[in-house]
Amino acid sequence: MARPWNFSAGPSAMPESVLRQAAAEMLDWRGSGMSVMEMSHRGKQFVEICSQAEADLRELLEVPEHYAVLFMQGGATAENAIIPLNLLGRAAQPKADFVISGIWAKKSLEECRRYGDAQVAATNAVETVIDGRTQGPSTWLPETSSWRVRPDAAYLHVCSNETIGGVETMAWPDMADLGAPDVPLVVDASSHFLSRPMPVAKTGMIFAGAQKNAGPAGLTVVIVRRDLIGHALAICPSAFDYANVAREKSMYNTPPTFAIYIAGLVFKWLKEQGGLAAIEQQNIAKATMLYNYFDQSRFYSVPVHPSVRSRMNVPFFLPDTALESAFLAGAEARGLMQLKGHKSVGGMRASIYNAMPLEGVVALIDYLKDFERSHG
Ligand code: PMP
Repeated sequence: MARPWNFSAGPSAMPESVLRQAAAEMLDWRGSGMSVMEMSHRGKQFVEICSQAEADLRELLEVPEHYAVLFMQGGATAENAIIPLNLLGRAAQPKADFVISGIWAKKSLEECRRYGDAQVAATNAVETVIDGRTQGPSTWLPETSSWRVRPDAAYLHVCSNETIGGVETMAWPDMADLGAPDVPLVVDASSHFLSRPMPVAKTGMIFAGAQKNAGPAGLTVVIVRRDLIGHALAICPSAFDYANVAREKSMYNTPPTFAIYIAGLVFKWLKEQGGLAAIEQQNIAKATMLYNYFDQSRFYSVPVHPSVRSRMNVPFFLPDTALESAFLAGAEARGLMQLKGHKSVGGMRASIYNAMPLEGVVALIDYLKDFERSHG
């Protein structure tokens, strides 16, 4: 039976071969007689699964040796607190700066305010005009040259792909160019993690909830420069202190073992696809095909400025909200699932992560055309 095309923003579609392998190994992982979820995290088998997952992730992203890879829990939301708790103590004053690119960056700033002085370095929360075209709030990105970073901030936080707004930062800045060479760049890459090569060495740390491109919910991947570890505030819970997690190789407490195992299978799948440069080409092809269709259509519209459109999350509008329920019902009848947009933006959203094949995008475009023909 063919599975439907799943456009959920996360948790989202997984590579089918990963699901099949997990199913085949569910009762007996490679002759062990046990499911991975039944194994002690301290046992030889799981320790091997975990270290292989880390090695494959390091290879995919070319993570330099002076960065630790941590498998944590609590999602990117918990990380919004865990980061200030770990990094604010490095600076003389507990302060951090934030580029507001949408809802997720704003949430990160608000959480940081519980622990220190969090300021806006740049924001897209206002309307602007680009090339004579008016762009609404959260549909564009401020030029890097306009960012105001305090040179003594403990870090600069950027969300490199706003899942809800559909805005993606393609080039990550050099902090020296921003007049803040000593300020580590902290990147929330949750919703485009592993969708393309990423310049880890430009950052102080990258983090991502796994449930979009890397595996199941419950696992947060943190890649952090080792010199930033070891400065946690006294109030930081010990399970969230990067020094403890790094020293114990993500086993300070029981890690999300099954989620790490599945993420490990996704990393292997990515290597089989040819790695991140190859998956990036697939993602460019999918996103280009979909945006090109929308751009020639006078029925649908995309709110995000073309220069910052996300390759992963594609919000779009129908000409009339009254058509939305018919659109969604018709989509589901054709096996195109979870296309409803986030309630804060409205309209529709197609998330086309790594696991969505080109074929799924073609099926979506076929439906878009038919719906436009019958309702346009
Ligand atoms: N940041 C981004 C970019 C996200 O997309 C999300 C979740 N959609 C979060 C943070 C919050 O992640 P979580 O729900 O795993 O805490």
